[in-house]
Amino acid sequence: MSKPAATEAVHLPPAEIRRLQTRLLAWYRQHHRQLPWRESRDFYPVWVSEVMLQQTQVQTVVPYFLRFMKAFPTLEDLAGADPQDLLRNWAGLGYYSRARNLQKAARIVLREQGGEFPRSHREALRLPGVGPYTAAAILSIAFDQPLLALDGNVVRVLSRLFRLEGDPARSPVQEMLAAAGRQLLPAHRPGDFNQALMELGATVCLPRNPRCLLCPWSSHCEALKAGVQERLPEKGKRPDTHLSRQAAAVIRHRGRFLIRRRSDSRLLQDMWEFPGGEFSRSDLAGSLVKYLESELRLNVRLRDRLTVVKHAVTNRRITLTVYEARLNPPLPPTLSIPGARWIWLSQAGRYPLTAAASRIVQALTAEHLHRRGRPESGRRQVGLAAPLKP
Ligand code: SF4
Repeated sequence: MSKPAATEAVHLPPAEIRRLQTRLLAWYRQHHRQLPWRESRDFYPVWVSEVMLQQTQVQTVVPYFLRFMKAFPTLEDLAGADPQDLLRNWAGLGYYSRARNLQKAARIVLREQGGEFPRSHREALRLPGVGPYTAAAILSIAFDQPLLALDGNVVRVLSRLFRLEGDPARSPVQEMLAAAGRQLLPAHRPGDFNQALMELGATVCLPRNPRCLLCPWSSHCEALKAGVQERLPEKGKRPDTHLSRQAAAVIRHRGRFLIRRRSDSRLLQDMWEFPGGEFSRSDLAGSLVKYLESELRLNVRLRDRLTVVKHAVTNRRITLTVYEARLNPPLPPTLSIPGARWIWLSQAGRYPLTAAASRIVQALTAEHLHRRGRPESGRRQVGLAAPLKP
């Protein structure tokens, strides 16, 4: 390969393109992972998997994909699903707007396209939740359209192969990468080539310690030749981190717990959580008591601290302190609160819970088992410092 200037467009001779294609596709045939969505080229499972894989690792997605496809095996099932059922089957994957958009888009495809995915990139982009990458991935994998699917893995591989400098979040660099990648895309089975590129990025050309000895492109890679593979792609400036202190209450009332449906947040709308919020005052417990009184008209007495859940949402580092609470004074068993429900612990699985609420349920379950003399997991083990999705 002629050595490209670091910031100039890449032009490859046809023989070089063929060599790169052949090597990558031969490697992919031999080394690709068996993944459930690769068993068919039907657009529906490809679409569901591509949406799930946005911001989420393959190993995490597999069980969710299988569960989701069992619950909604066809586009019609997804379009007609009860929204709470949909969220329940997505719960734990995070970024719930993806599920809501997927359902909206499925309804549009059924209503306006007779159940067929649009065949042009521009038309596909009109569907909620379908961006340039997802549209290109679906159209190339399911319909053999010669479109390059440029995700984070592919950006990394191409930046290194061609030793392209510059922050790939900036559009001139992105255009250069896309133009270089398009030259490599074969007319035959471009979807396989896209998947091979993604697979190479996910399993060999890793962000740190790329496994260049195993790479089918090692003899062509400009970054490897220059010894700068670890430095590419360049990283742009990260947004400042915001620390968020939150508190929630597990309010027990005659053996049941109060959960409420979120309605005020775009990210987690319609998910269920334990009541609480973000507080700036140092007296977290006092702030929580006041909040419950003003928001839910509940006078509570806080007891033990049940657990602390730490998680990150984009650039927010959240510490959620969870308190056990009792109503003060006790209220009638029929006490009803708009947008909230009193549930038994065993009923929690029926609700689409936020990831943090799921961790709290785990803590309550551990405590319940402990009380019954089965201490297989203690409260301290639950939910601490594990990163969660929003
Ligand atoms: S040789 Fe190394 S750096 Fe270059 S593409 Fe392969 S794995 Fe990535």
